[in-house]
Amino acid sequence: MMETVLKSHYDEQHPHQAEDFHGKHEQNSKLSAGIKKDIEKLYEAVPQLVNVFKIKEKIGEGTFSSVYLATAQLQTGYEEKMALKHLIPTSHPLRIAAELQCLTVAGGQDNVMGVKYCFRKNDHVVIVMPYLEHESFLDILNSLSFEEVREYMFNLFKALRRIHHFGIVHRDVKPSNFLYNRQLKEYALVDFGLAQGTPDTKIELLKTASSEDEQEDSIHHSVQRSVFGERNFNVYSSTYQENSSTKLIKQSKMIDVSSRKLVTKKKIISTKTVSNGAARKAVSGCPSNLTCDCYATDKVCSVCLSRCQQVAPRAGTPGFRAPEVLTKCPTQTTAIDMWSAGIVFLSLLSGRYPFYKASDDLTALAQIMTVRGSRETIQAAKTFGKSVLCTQVVPAQNLRTLCEKLRGTNSSCKRSQGEVLSKSLNDSALPVAVDKQCAPETLGKQTQHLKSFQEGDGALEMKATDMKGWDQVPDEAYDLLDKLLDLNPATRITAKEALLHPFFKDMRL
Ligand code: ADP
Ligand code: MG
Ligand code: ZN
Repeated sequence: MMETVLKSHYDEQHPHQAEDFHGKHEQNSKLSAGIKKDIEKLYEAVPQLVNVFKIKEKIGEGTFSSVYLATAQLQTGYEEKMALKHLIPTSHPLRIAAELQCLTVAGGQDNVMGVKYCFRKNDHVVIVMPYLEHESFLDILNSLSFEEVREYMFNLFKALRRIHHFGIVHRDVKPSNFLYNRQLKEYALVDFGLAQGTPDTKIELLKTASSEDEQEDSIHHSVQRSVFGERNFNVYSSTYQENSSTKLIKQSKMIDVSSRKLVTKKKIISTKTVSNGAARKAVSGCPSNLTCDCYATDKVCSVCLSRCQQVAPRAGTPGFRAPEVLTKCPTQTTAIDMWSAGIVFLSLLSGRYPFYKASDDLTALAQIMTVRGSRETIQAAKTFGKSVLCTQVVPAQNLRTLCEKLRGTNSSCKRSQGEVLSKSLNDSALPVAVDKQCAPETLGKQTQHLKSFQEGDGALEMKATDMKGWDQVPDEAYDLLDKLLDLNPATRITAKEALLHPFFKDMRL
């Protein structure tokens, strides 16, 4: 039935394309009825598209948009691939305009996605961008060579330097927003849907979209974007699909007790933040003096969860949020994107993604403490006016030791003691004390015992002779990681500085 509707639609408008759609492009027969219907609806909502594009498939679906792959017939006869981002019709017009302005002003250069056209009919807006075919991060994470990781980070910093230069804070830096074509070595930072301006931003529309927008924003983002909140329709992606309705439930304020076990089964930490001084006073309508029953337990009680929260920009994905975002520091700078880049780097070095799996901000903060130290986190929070309470002291970890342990490149140390590495980091995978360094000699021997890694369609043998550079990660890598994961935004490394870091010494700017 849907088939016929779709076909007749094409027949009226573009007979030759209809043929194309059902003939040459066989993958379209694999389109699910739901996606066909979405495509059909999009043509109806924005009829101008019909004359220009052949929409082929859905490549992304998030909370705020759906993205489609389409082709446009150029006058030369060449078919160009494009990405069509259909924003949800309830998006605030200012928000849409701001997203578009980020792309038009800062985009098209230095690994920042550009824009080709924009179509609108009533409240439906479609942003047309060049299409960049890209990998699913999770699928390639464990097959990347160390050199590829270095290039990836370099190119991410290039993109961040550019947008930060324009006074854009992206606020949602994560792998699904940084497209990576491994073969072509092409990169593109996308998705300015949550972007905000610095006080001196060069993006006019980001100047207005702050204070007035925030209240609405915080409501808007109570449906948080998360790593799990996006379905990836990528051709390359095979894993990690979850039903979106279950995700929305997860993202709401439900406490998953298991995800709060941070260090070991017995050692559980819980955190709370309070604003210092004046900011602490309660705002009308919020419970301010209810008795809390979660202090010194492994839970965040409903009283604490419903506590009035300071209005501050609060967006992005919990696991990628900087400590100043998690504690709702009202002044947030481009440094928050650098923290997120640090989390991406941490995933790449450790081979774990997502690295932090938190459903709420306090859990995310507790997870940061398990890597960066609780005292250190509390100390840093003081510098931006937040006092953090933590029921337990956890030490900071050595980043190299942590990453090597998780990646399995120094398996000799702990496994011989009978310790089992857990796969997910929300549980007991974050070791409390891993300061014991492995002697380099034992590391060399251990590499021969590495198991095979799954990669794409087949298994790839990781031999001692082909460690893809992972047996020689220089100290500079961990020095840069340390500077990205600086708990204090004021001293955190900037994108410009990161590009000049010794880690990238031989790379061209
Ligand atoms: P959302 O705001 O819904 O997260 P994004 O702009 O991040 O929307 O796009 C969602 C997904 O669509 C991306 O993660 C990516 O997989 C795909 N996508 C977006 N833009 C492009 C593009 N220009 N080329 C190829 N794929 C794209
Ligand atoms: Mg996105
Ligand atoms: Zn409580």
